[in-house]
Amino acid sequence: MNEMNELYYQDAYLRDFDAEVLSCTPIKDGYAIALSQTAFYPEGGGQPGDHGTLNGVEVFDTHTKDGTVLHYTREPLAEGSAVHGSIDWERRFDLMQQHSGEHIFSGLIHKQFGYENIGFHLGEETVTLDFSGPLSEEDLLKTELLANEHIWGNSETIITYPSEEELASLDFRSKKELHGTVRIVTFPGADVCACCGTHVTRAGEIGLIKVLSCQNRKNGTRVDIVCGKRALNYVRDIYAENMKISHLLSANVKETSAAVERTLHELGVLRRERHRAALTALEAEKAALREGQPLAVLFTEGIDTRDLRSFCNQIIEEKGIGTCAAFSQREDGYQYVILSHSADLRPVGKALNTAFSGRGGGPAEMIQGALTGNEANIRAFLEEQF
Ligand SMILES: [Zn+2]
Repeated sequence: MNEMNELYYQDAYLRDFDAEVLSCTPIKDGYAIALSQTAFYPEGGGQPGDHGTLNGVEVFDTHTKDGTVLHYTREPLAEGSAVHGSIDWERRFDLMQQHSGEHIFSGLIHKQFGYENIGFHLGEETVTLDFSGPLSEEDLLKTELLANEHIWGNSETIITYPSEEELASLDFRSKKELHGTVRIVTFPGADVCACCGTHVTRAGEIGLIKVLSCQNRKNGTRVDIVCGKRALNYVRDIYAENMKISHLLSANVKETSAAVERTLHELGVLRRERHRAALTALEAEKAALREGQPLAVLFTEGIDTRDLRSFCNQIIEEKGIGTCAAFSQREDGYQYVILSHSADLRPVGKALNTAFSGRGGGPAEMIQGALTGNEANIRAFLEEQF
């Protein structure tokens, strides 16, 4: 760490700066540019590298190589020339909100349960945290509240560089063994952690922390959180979605799940009624069939393949019918089952699928599948076959 030319360590809020181009090296897809000083934060400590511009040339990523900050561009910049740098501040501030929120959340988990944060990914959409022990939903909701209370307390973030002796007696979180100068970031009352990233000056700037999900992993817990503007956007999206449900079901916006439950219950009742009515109609059709006729074709709706199969079986056995075909209507056409004790159905199935854009098949005595077409055409087609 060289605080002299890494301007983000002097001021994490610096958006613009002037510098000299020290080197411009061609790389695979562009150029790696080193500057006399920079406000571009290079990827490190779980925080992605900054984006921005140098004299209007886009910087698409920033990394450190052998202690030098490298700005990646598609266009070259002349060595020795003066450049004006601007970082993509909206993106950087978002990363500062997520990163600082992660400290507070992980620190509070550590304080309450003694777990370490063993994985941290600051993604495009969410922040993913892996903790070294089990956490219940209740634990996470409690920690979410504590983290937000810490934010409302708006305490100042403290950055220190303790001596080796001071470090030895300091209780802090750290991801790896540390050597040389160690930068300690303290969110008073919530977290003390060795970190090289950029952080908000006061906790209040994080705005809001929201836990989105948790999953049990081997011996630990994976938690997704969002902070700051991301948390606001998340709440807005969920609110908009819930408002749609509320309007669709004419339900109070805080009682949508009860309305969905009622609707699903009603749907279940209607489906069962439709099923019963369809079976009654099929029974009537069966009763009207002549004993021993070569082919029976039945059309119905709301009956699944298993029931169609058992109905065809009954018709063949009770009425001594050669071939029975049953079609059940669904949104985009029909599901079908054809059973036969007298014919090889495989060529019939192929011809049927070709004629009615269908799919499916099966052994010689039973085929099943789905197709589209109208009832009269399907009947006429089958009557020609048998
Ligand atoms: Zn940090």
